[in-house]
Amino acid sequence: MISMGTEGNLRRRVLVFPLPYQGHLNPMFQLAGLLHARGFAITVFHAHFNAPDPSGHPAFDFIPVPDGMPAGNPESVEVTVEHIFTVNRACEAPFRERLAALLDAPGRRAEVACLVADAHLLTLVNVAQQLGVPTLALRTGSAACFRNFMAYPMLCDKGYLPAQESRLDEPVGELPPYRVRDLMAIGNGGVVHDMARRLMARAVEAVRASAGFILNTFDALEADDLATTRRDLALPVFDIGPLHKISPAASSSLLTQDPGCLEWLDAQAPASVLYISFGSLANMSGAELAETAWGIADSGQPFLWVLRRDLVRGAAEAALPAGFDEATRGRGKIVGWAPQEDVLALAAVGGFWTHCGWNSTLESACGGVPMLCRPCFGDQMGNARYVEHVWRAGITLDGELVRGKVEAAIRRLMRSKEGDEMRERARELKSRADEAIAEDGSSRRSIDKLVDHILSL
Ligand code: UDP
Repeated sequence: MISMGTEGNLRRRVLVFPLPYQGHLNPMFQLAGLLHARGFAITVFHAHFNAPDPSGHPAFDFIPVPDGMPAGNPESVEVTVEHIFTVNRACEAPFRERLAALLDAPGRRAEVACLVADAHLLTLVNVAQQLGVPTLALRTGSAACFRNFMAYPMLCDKGYLPAQESRLDEPVGELPPYRVRDLMAIGNGGVVHDMARRLMARAVEAVRASAGFILNTFDALEADDLATTRRDLALPVFDIGPLHKISPAASSSLLTQDPGCLEWLDAQAPASVLYISFGSLANMSGAELAETAWGIADSGQPFLWVLRRDLVRGAAEAALPAGFDEATRGRGKIVGWAPQEDVLALAAVGGFWTHCGWNSTLESACGGVPMLCRPCFGDQMGNARYVEHVWRAGITLDGELVRGKVEAAIRRLMRSKEGDEMRERARELKSRADEAIAEDGSSRRSIDKLVDHILSL
C-alpha cells in the first residue's frame, strides 16, 4: 500500500539508521521528527543494543536489526569504538535482508527517498547504496570536529599524532584553534591510535560516499568551519541545528528523565544553580567522584547534579561520600537522569559543568548557559577549546581533579565578574541560535534545501 501526501502525491519515505548511543540517537530522532513534520513518512532501522522505545514515536515505523552486542554501557572509550565496528559488521547481513524486504513490498521502492545514516555506519551506507537507496550522512558532532576527522591522516603524517606529552600545548597550525591536546583522542598508544584512525577514515568515507552531509550546528556558531567543510567536500552540506530547538520534542532518552528537578529549579533564584552532568558515557574513579563532591560542597553554590548509576568505573552505584548530604542540605538536588534540554532553558541555571559532548555543548550554548568544561575523550577536548577560546563562554577544568580546584573553578564561573561576562556571551550565542532557527534564519533555509534535496533524490 502506497501512502499518499496531503496533495494526493506519493508520500515520500525517509529511512534512518542511528548509531545506538544517546548522543547519536537524540539528534537522529530530532531530525526524523523534523522531516516527519515536513511531510515525510519515517522508518527507523535500529540496533537491538540501546534500542529506542517505539511508543515515544507512534508516527514512525520501527525495524529492529540484530547486532549481537552485549547490553550495558561500555566501560571505556576503546570498547565504545570496538562496539561501533561491531554494530557495522553484525548489522550488515540482517540490515541487507530487512531493507531488501522493505523495498520489495508493493509500491515501497518508489516511496523510499533515501536513508539517513549516522556517519559512523559506513557498512550500512554501502548496503543501502548496493540496494539502490541513496544515502545522506548525519554527523552528530560539530563541523570543527569533522574537519579534525578529515585532517587526521595529515596530523599523523606531520607527527602531531599520536600525541606526545611534551607537545600537548603546541598549536596545530594547520587546524586552528586546536592545540595538540584538543585533537580527537581515544586513549593513547599504537593499537588505539590505529583504531581511532580507522574510525575517522570510515566516517569520512561514509560522508564522501553519500549524496549530502547533515550537521547539527548553525552558521553563526561555526561559520569558518562550515565554509571549510563545504570547500573540502564536493557535496551539499546542511547545517540545520540546533536540532533540539527546531524539532518537536519527542523523547529518545534511554534513561528515564526525572521531571521533579524542573519544579525545584523553578523555585531557585535566577542564574544561581550550577547544573552538573557528564553525559551518557563518560565515567570517573571513586576518588574523583569524592573530590568532585567535596569541591561542589565547599563552593557553597546551589546545584543540580546528574549522578548516573554507572558514573563510577567498576561500581554498581555512584555512592557519594559520607557527610555530603548534610554539607549541602537545602541547596542541592541529585537526580539519576534529567530532562537536560528543559533544564538548560530555565532561568535558574547559571552554569553547566559538562563533559562537553557535542549535544550538551550545543544545548548549553543555545540555552545561554556558560560552561565549566571537563572533557574526557573523543571530540570533547575540541569542543571545550571552542567554548573557552573561540566563544569565550566558559572555562576548562584540567589536570587532576581535586576539591580545591573544583571549588575555585565553580566560584569563578558562578560568582565572578569574568563569569558574568561569560554568561553574557553565552546569552549572545543563544540569540544567534534563535536567529538561526527563526523564519528565514540560516538553519531554516538549510532545512528547506535539505527537504528539496531529499525530494530530488
Ligand atoms: N541528557 C539527558 N539527561 C541527562 C544528561 C544528558 O537527557 O541527565 C542528554 C543530553 O540532553 C544530550 C545527551 O543526553 O542530548 C548526551 O549527549 P552528549 O553528546 O552531550 O554526550 P554523550 O552522552 O554522547 O557523551
